[in-house]
Formats: sequence, structure tokens, C-alpha cells
Amino acid sequence: MAARVSGIEKSATFAIFDKVRALRTQGVRILDLGGGEPDFDTPRHIAGEAAAALAGGFTHYTPSRGTPELLEAISKKLADDNGIQAGAADGIIVTPSAKHALHISLLSVLDPGDEVIVPTPSWVSYAAMAQLAGARPVFAELPADGGFRLTREVLEAHVTDRTKAVLVNSPNNPTGHVLTEAEARDVTAFAAAHDLFVVSDEIYEKIRYDGARHISPASLPDGAGRTLTVNGFSKGYAMTGWRLGYVAGPAEIIGEVLKVQQHTVGCAGSFVQRGAVAALTGPQDAVAAMAAEYAERRSLLVDAMNALPGVVCTPPDGAFYAFADIRGTGFERSADFAEWLLTAAGVAVTPGTAFGPGGEGHIRLSFATSREVLAEAADRMAAALAARP
Ligand code: PMP
Ligand code: GLU
Repeated sequence: MAARVSGIEKSATFAIFDKVRALRTQGVRILDLGGGEPDFDTPRHIAGEAAAALAGGFTHYTPSRGTPELLEAISKKLADDNGIQAGAADGIIVTPSAKHALHISLLSVLDPGDEVIVPTPSWVSYAAMAQLAGARPVFAELPADGGFRLTREVLEAHVTDRTKAVLVNSPNNPTGHVLTEAEARDVTAFAAAHDLFVVSDEIYEKIRYDGARHISPASLPDGAGRTLTVNGFSKGYAMTGWRLGYVAGPAEIIGEVLKVQQHTVGCAGSFVQRGAVAALTGPQDAVAAMAAEYAERRSLLVDAMNALPGVVCTPPDGAFYAFADIRGTGFERSADFAEWLLTAAGVAVTPGTAFGPGGEGHIRLSFATSREVLAEAADRMAAALAARP
């Protein structure tokens, strides 16, 4: 096998999806707080548009960048919501998933031997994507006790003459941290000082709590000319199975990324793009309703976790994960804790180490599941911890 493939691990999140499915097939009742995907169905008006497009024969290739209608809708959304100027004609590519947007972005800017700074804890796929591009992910560990805040100092400590890019994710998976404007300015000033690309993953933008503001690095003066902004429909619109996302950035960079899109997938699905136009231009009440429900679940789960002996859980500012500190439970490794929890309580969670070295000592619990499941999972965890010798 190619070294670039044998050198990476399987996705820890997909491993948990598979494990939960396999146990359920055997008849074991598992409460799944593992993989992160909305439990809501896609809002009906969005699904209806895609179904009508499919029935109406909108089943052919689209332009590689995406359909003109969707590109227009995304360009307007980026301007209105994010203060990002990305032209529909040359500043955006619609991709089959945000994952693919990240993959082609990293392939386009990283050469073999380059380094990309990845603050950790961070989502499972960033390091592997950098490695697939032949580059080296350099983990910049953020201190748990500082609320996983990103500082200029921690970034400066990891820069070398091979550093090419810095990858940020806000709201963050798994910590739930939302970059403040000061942090976002630190990132873009750092990138400008060292002439780096910024890759900004904003997939959880729509899911925020307590009035946390979303700041896009590309909207800041230092970020505008060097940032690739990745976003999509999976989380905010509950469209994970549709596989639809996008990348936006300066026209000269997007023009290069387009070559990778053309030679890898060509274009995103045609009828799904029709649905996405409805998502962006139609009513947003369903998005707000889902975010409001996540807020209720967040309180329920965070309170329940903090009631467990040895567990400390700070409420996340965004996304739908609680990232609980389990260092007080007596378990040395988060992977052992997650394994034990699955066996002893039938509760699936993701060990913190799936999110890089900065995640040890923590577990990620997804609250993209019903309040009933969360409440029962909390009861089972409490009982299992109490029964430990
Ligand atoms: N970024 C982060 C941080 C995520 O958690 C996910 C979810 N899988 C993605 C990107 C990819 O989303 P998509 O479903 O659009 O590939
Ligand atoms: N983003 C989700 C998670 O972190 C879905 C799985 C994945 O794409 O990694 O669990």
C-alpha cells in the first residue's frame, strides 16, 4: 500500500458508528452519544425541492463549481452572515461534503514536507487529510484549563520555515469553543506575519449558545486574501446524508482548487444542489428550532455530567458536543474510559485522544440525540461509576 495511506489511521468517529451498528444488530441496546450527526430529519421544504428536481430530470452533471443558483445563494449568505466577499462566478466551489472541501483545499495548498498547524483538540480528519497531501500536521496543544482558547503564543510556538497553513475550526468539534473576535484576529495576524494560508472550518456556524458571535477569519483584513472558508449543510440544516458543502476564497486560489475538484469528483450532486438553494433562500425557522433544542439538551447533559463524581464539564459555546474532563475518575486513558463505558453502561462516547494529543483526559458526548436518551445515558453512567470497585 502507498505510504500515504498506510501512514494514517481509520476514522475514529466512523469506527464508533460501525461499532454501535454492529452491537445493535446483535440486539444489544446502546445509547449512542458517539458520532456527531443531527438526529433531526432534513426540513421538509428542502427535501421537497430536491425530490422535485430528481423527479423532473435534473439528474445530469452541473458545472464543476456548482449550479449558478446555488453559487449565488452561497455568495449572498457569505456576504450577509459572515462579511465575506466571495464572487459567485469565481470565489466558491460547491463540493460533495465539507469533508471534500477540506480535502481539496489542503491538497491544493500543501506540498509534501510542508507543515500545517492544527490546534488540538480538533476534529479527527484534519491530521489525516494533511498527511494524504504529503504534509505534516503539527499539533498545537491548547490548554484544557484555559478553556481551549487559541492564543498567538501557542501558534508562534509551533511555526517553522516549513509552515504553510493554519487550520481553525469554530464552533469547535470537540470542545465547543467559539473563537472570539480577539482570537480570530490573533489567528489572521499570525498568518499574515508568517505569510500562511488559513483554512477555516465553519460547519457548526448555525449551532451556537448564549449569544456567542461567529467570526469568520476571512472577514478580517489580515484574513481576506489568504483564507479558505469551508462550510456546508450537514449540521445546521440536518443534511449529513446529502453530502454537500463548499469552499470560498480569493479567486486566484479557488481557481487552483477547482482543478482538484474537476479531476476528483467533477461536481457535487445535481438535485441535492437544488435542495441546498431552498435551504439557504427559504425560511430559517427549522434551523432556529433545532438550535433551540440543542440548547435544552446541552443544559441537561452538562448538568448531568457535572453531577458525576470526578467529572467536570464546561458548557460548550457552540456545536453539539460536551467535552467532559474525566481525569478525576481514576481512569488514566480516555480510550479505556470509553471502552469501559460501552461495556459497563451501554453508552457510546468518543475518547478525547481521537481529537489529537490535546484531547487526552476527556471524552466527547454528542447531544445530537433525544433528551430521553441523554437522561437515560446519564443515569446509566452514574450507576456504572457508582458500581465501580
Ligand atoms: N468539519 C467538522 C469539524 C465536522 O465535525 C464535520 C462532520 N463530519 C465535517 C467537517 C464534515 O462535514 P460534512 O458532512 O459536510 O462532510
Ligand atoms: N463530524 C462527525 C463527528 O465528528 C461525523 C463523523 C465524521 O465525519 O467524522 O463525529
